[in-house]
Amino acid sequence: MSTPRETHGFQAEVRQLMQLMIHSLYSHREIFLRELISNASDANDKLRFLALSDPALLAGESDLGIWIDTDAKAGTLTIRDNGIGLSREEAIAHLGTIAKSGTAEFFGRLSGDQQRDAQLIGQFGVGFYAAFIVADRVVVESRRADAPAAAGVRWESRADGEFSVETIERVPRGTSVILHLKEDAREFADAWRLRSLVRRYSDHIAFPVRMQKEGATLEYEAVNQAQALWARPKSEISDDEYRAFYRHISHDGADPLIWAHNRVEGKREYTSLLYLPSQAPFDLWQREAARGLKLYVRRVFIMDNAEQFLPLYLRFIKGVVDSSDLPLNVSRELLQQDEQVEAMRAALTRRALELLAKLATDDAAKYAAFWKQFGRVLKEGLSEDPANRERLLPLLRYASTHNEGDAEDVSLADYVARMKTGQERIYYVIGENHAAARGSPHIEQLRARGIEVLLLGDRVDEWVMGQVGEFSGKRFKDAARGELELGALADAADQDRSEAALKESKGLLKRCKDALGERVREVRPSTRLADSPACLVRDDTDMSESMRRVLQAHGQEAPPSVPTLELNVTHPLVKYLDGLPPGESFDELARLLYDQARLNDSGQLEQPAEFTRRLNGLLLRFVGQQGG
Ligand code: ADP
Repeated sequence: MSTPRETHGFQAEVRQLMQLMIHSLYSHREIFLRELISNASDANDKLRFLALSDPALLAGESDLGIWIDTDAKAGTLTIRDNGIGLSREEAIAHLGTIAKSGTAEFFGRLSGDQQRDAQLIGQFGVGFYAAFIVADRVVVESRRADAPAAAGVRWESRADGEFSVETIERVPRGTSVILHLKEDAREFADAWRLRSLVRRYSDHIAFPVRMQKEGATLEYEAVNQAQALWARPKSEISDDEYRAFYRHISHDGADPLIWAHNRVEGKREYTSLLYLPSQAPFDLWQREAARGLKLYVRRVFIMDNAEQFLPLYLRFIKGVVDSSDLPLNVSRELLQQDEQVEAMRAALTRRALELLAKLATDDAAKYAAFWKQFGRVLKEGLSEDPANRERLLPLLRYASTHNEGDAEDVSLADYVARMKTGQERIYYVIGENHAAARGSPHIEQLRARGIEVLLLGDRVDEWVMGQVGEFSGKRFKDAARGELELGALADAADQDRSEAALKESKGLLKRCKDALGERVREVRPSTRLADSPACLVRDDTDMSESMRRVLQAHGQEAPPSVPTLELNVTHPLVKYLDGLPPGESFDELARLLYDQARLNDSGQLEQPAEFTRRLNGLLLRFVGQQGG
């Protein structure tokens, strides 16, 4: 029985991806082989897993492998597996569309510059469609392990935007991918060349990749080691092999920054191989993005994206965990409640944090690269994983008033080592971005005294920093909140000055409070300001205006908080204000100072038009004075 041939159009993104690959990856054409072998290996893994609960699927053929055949005369190359196989519907769905998260993002970032785009494609993962880099016609013949021979499928495309499918009779289980090589890619029909490529790129594949013995037709031999890489002794694995294996499991074209390969013995036995990628994936910030490790039990592949083995804030770590103790029929649900998994998760989390600590110590440049890509994610750990706070704090990096620009390269240890004698707090300030934090009036005094302030340029930092208490015995202090807590940094002269200021400006403070009413909780002389006349200060426990806005945007109630206005009583404008008699001018100037402070505080005013009117009123007086 055979149904008529059906023609389908590729999804637009697939067409675009194929065109891109054909043109941009020209100089790395051989990667197609690694991608197809990787798919074949995944298909074998899946069958072996399903056969755990349904051994009949193996139908007596339990030696799973991958075979490569060439026909130099015909110019064809065939990669065959005896894995799970594809049904007609699956062939249409999987070999005609891209179902990966981050796809839209990926296409949005393409620039048209071939070299840059080639790199992006590498990061995105090329997969099956890489076949078209070397072939102008690709035929896939397959039969699912649970389907009869009559339900085989033939899929075919000439990379012209369409593919055809028809039902065929196919006895062997699994999939054959037949490449009709382009005229200029005939080198890939050469057995010698293929052997060297398999050894270079696919040695770590846990199934034998078999090719015909030289001079002996129909007699095959394995070309690769065919042993799970993580199960081999560390000392026998080269860096190149680790890197190649990373590509296989991560679909990331870039090399990892560092990895850790460990075998745990004793009460629990498992092996883990964790990698730190060098580039953030396209879907790092997508909630539903796949994450987690590849889980094996005694070398048998169980599942991809086993997310129970690492916390969310380490979602960028890729790798494999192979347990000797978990049951082969373990499910996602079981993983969630398993005590043993819980213990492994704690140990793997520690392992990953140690890996980061090692990178930070051994290679500051690489660590900086890591921080740039993943620092924001790692920071989530401060609230997600309080138990590891002591391990996380040394991994943080900040921009600082002691450095230029917005590079985040100051560690807390750096900060503490540079603290002034008598300094007891680690000061920081949060702004909409680094430049805003750097320009914050709240840190003028600290800067004037040469005290370093960490600059945080992301509003979520407010929430993150709310979770950390202290580092190395020094408490953190938001310079824009409460008292500045200068402690021993303030000397007797400072004390006298502020007492005098309070006494002298008592009248002014009260008049200002009366003019501003309920807008402010209190008006007081500032210990923070040096150049600016005024700023708003919140209590340590109050929510900032920006945070309130974030909450409100998400439809949540935010508790009201009334700030305190601090005045720089030595500032000429404030002195001028003090000299004004009660009346409209006083009230107008007081409001102007308050509005300025509010702008600095939250970037927003209650009534912008009122502010402009007041400011223009003042400017006009100034113009009048100049004219007259
Ligand atoms: P990825 O492997 O990243 O999912 P690919 O484009 O390489 O993307 O493959 C798309 C899908 O086609 C795979 O997820 C799989 O479902 C199917 N597929 C590819 N090759 C095979 C194969 N040899 N056997 C069975 N299914 C396959």
